[in-house]
Amino acid sequence: MALIVQKYGGTSVGTVERIEAVAKKIKARRDAGDAVVVVVSAMSGETNRLVELAKAVQDRPDPREFDVLVSTGEQITIALLSMALKEIGCPACSYTGSQVHILTDNAHNKARIKEVDGARVRADLNQGKVVVVAGFQGVDEHGNITTLGRGGSDTTAVALAAALSADECQIYTDVDGVYTTDPRVVPEARRLEQITFEEMLEMASLGSKVLQIRAVELAGKFNVPLRVLSSFEEGEGTLISIEDDSMEQALISGIAFNRDEAKLTILGVPDQPGIANQILGPVADANIEVDMIVQNIAEDTTTDFTFTIHRNDYAHALEIMQKTSAALGAREVSGDDKIVKVSLVGVGMRSHAGIASTMFSTLAQEGINIRMISTSEIKISVVMDEKYLELAVRALHSAFDLEES
Ligand code: ASP
Ligand code: MG
Repeated sequence: MALIVQKYGGTSVGTVERIEAVAKKIKARRDAGDAVVVVVSAMSGETNRLVELAKAVQDRPDPREFDVLVSTGEQITIALLSMALKEIGCPACSYTGSQVHILTDNAHNKARIKEVDGARVRADLNQGKVVVVAGFQGVDEHGNITTLGRGGSDTTAVALAAALSADECQIYTDVDGVYTTDPRVVPEARRLEQITFEEMLEMASLGSKVLQIRAVELAGKFNVPLRVLSSFEEGEGTLISIEDDSMEQALISGIAFNRDEAKLTILGVPDQPGIANQILGPVADANIEVDMIVQNIAEDTTTDFTFTIHRNDYAHALEIMQKTSAALGAREVSGDDKIVKVSLVGVGMRSHAGIASTMFSTLAQEGINIRMISTSEIKISVVMDEKYLELAVRALHSAFDLEES
């Protein structure tokens, strides 16, 4: 007997028919002898609808009341799914986040889980019931309803799996796994059977939106094996787990990319202590997240300083840089908001040299100019003009033989 936590996303429970289909899948698992805890999202579109309602009343909705409102989406699905299970003869019971003590901090709209008390869930499982828990929501120490940020039901599922020491946390969604890259860009992209937490974090933070990043972090921290599968097709999906020495590691697991990048350069800044802080401090104060940072070695007494940010922050950051430039007596500020980032990701690159050179020569053969480069132990990222994105991803996918299993 295994203890499994399953999470069904919004499209998987988007209609009554789909909820009934999900109930059948759950019942089959339970009838086979496993203990099953189910976490559900709101029906697809429901959370957006609630967000719009809030905004129609208040331009900037009160955070506490916003959570009271948007958490109702999940309360609908837990009740309907439990009814559907009982209707087909499967004992089940639904709970909100607070009823199973998903204790969070008080950061409304983006709360973090502090503690989960699995006692009530375990008691129900021992009686043979399927336990259905509302995703995305928790409660702070004063009993206020909180929510975990968009996509937060993934995190609820992982937190429950960790608290219950589940054998696996299965995330059912509308794709059948994690792919080597986005199949809309490379039709030959292949589903990965297995990927490490570290790799998945890189893929997720670079825009592969299969899982909420925090859920992957949490799963890695508590070593909860995570599996991404399709609710609509049979299949093994993709297992996300710790690095496994027994497996022959592929050199590269995937190619991630981010379309929404912009960069800013401040030219001719004095080369002296404190400058990086004077440039980036005001950017951080404006809550603008900085990704890559590059500073050249000075040939004279000045240097150039470049960093990348999200495209949405470009205008604001440019304005800040113009002020900084004047204050520092820099030569000028230049920028570009039509750039993208393409990254090779793979733990296999730790033990192999020559990956960067294959990447650079592949891009050169396609006539693609690399604007910036950054590396980590398991990733090489390059920044390029946005018009090259598709070409670059396709060329790299084939250069590293990712279409072959
Ligand atoms: N319903 C919430 C959202 O749409 C949480 C989730 O589905 O994971 O963000
Ligand atoms: Mg989701």
